[in-house]
Amino acid sequence: MASVDLHFHSNISDGALSPADVVTRAAGRGATLLALTDHDCTRGFAEAAATAHELGLTLIGGVEISVSWGKHTIHIVGLGIEPGHTVLETGLQSIREGRIERAHAMAQALEKAGIGGTFDGAMALAANPEMIGRAHFARYMVNAGYIKDMRTVFRKFLAAGKTGYVPHQWASLADAVHWIRAAGGVAVIAHPGRYGFGTTLTERLILDFKDAGGEAIEVASGSHSLDDMHKYTLLAERFALLASAGSDFHAPGEGGRDVGLTAELPPLCRPVWREKGWGS
Ligand code: AMP
Ligand code: MN
Ligand code: MN
Ligand code: MN
Repeated sequence: MASVDLHFHSNISDGALSPADVVTRAAGRGATLLALTDHDCTRGFAEAAATAHELGLTLIGGVEISVSWGKHTIHIVGLGIEPGHTVLETGLQSIREGRIERAHAMAQALEKAGIGGTFDGAMALAANPEMIGRAHFARYMVNAGYIKDMRTVFRKFLAAGKTGYVPHQWASLADAVHWIRAAGGVAVIAHPGRYGFGTTLTERLILDFKDAGGEAIEVASGSHSLDDMHKYTLLAERFALLASAGSDFHAPGEGGRDVGLTAELPPLCRPVWREKGWGS
C-alpha cells in the first residue's frame, strides 16, 4: 500500500466527514501525502491543512471539477492548486450555481415516482447547501428506507437516464483544465474506469485532455479493478501521462476504498507526486 491519497471528499461537497475528520482518518491509516478533492469547491482546504499540519503530514491543494464532455459527464481532478485563486474560484462558482435548482427538479421527478420528501431530506444531509448533489439524495433514500443501498439507488433512480436524473451543464474540458493550470495545478483525469468508455472514446478523451494542457490520469482509484489499473498504466505510458492515485472516499461504510491508502502504482508509472516533488 502507498501512503498517498490524492482524491477524497469531505462534507464541503458530498462526503460525510468534516475536512478535519477525514484528514484525521487518513492519518490514522498511515497516509503521509494527501489532497482533499471536493467537487467544484475548495472551501475545505483551510481546515484540512490545519489538521494536516497538526498531524505532521503533507496536504496539497485539490479539487474535482464536474465536466460536460460531449454528452458525457466526466470528472477532472486538480492537484497542487492554490485554493482561492481568482480564475479557479470564479470558474467553480459558475458551475456550482445550478445545483439547488437541479435538486428541486430531481425531487419533483422522484416525487412522481412515489418517492417523497427528497429535497428536504437531502438538504438536511448537505453541510454545504450549494453543493447538494446526487450522493445526498441517495443517502437520504437509503436512510429513509426507500432503497436498500446507495448502489441500488443510483442503478435504479439516479444514474444517467433514470427517473431522478436531471442533466446538467458543467464546465467544458478546456475550461476546467485552464482553471486548474491558472491556479498553478496539475490536471488529472479522474477514475477513467468508471465512465464505461471503450478504447476509441477513452483515447479521444485523453487526446482532448492533453490538447487542453492536462498532464495526468488516475491509475490507482477506489473504483478501479486490478485490470483497470493495468489498462490505465499502459495508456499513461503510451500517451506520456503522469499517474495519480486516490481512494475517492466519501463516507464510512459506503463501499469502495477507505481514505488514506491507495494501491501501489505499477513500476512502469511515473507518479505525479514524484515528478512534481510533492511530499518530499
Ligand atoms: P452529482 O455531482 O450531484 O451529479 O453527483 C455525483 C456523485 O454521485 C459522485 O461524485 C459520487 O459521489 C456519486 N455517485 C455517482 N454514481 C454513483 C454510484 N453508482 N454509486 C454511488 N455513488 C455514485
Ligand atoms: Mn462524489
Ligand atoms: Mn468523481
Ligand atoms: Mn471523487
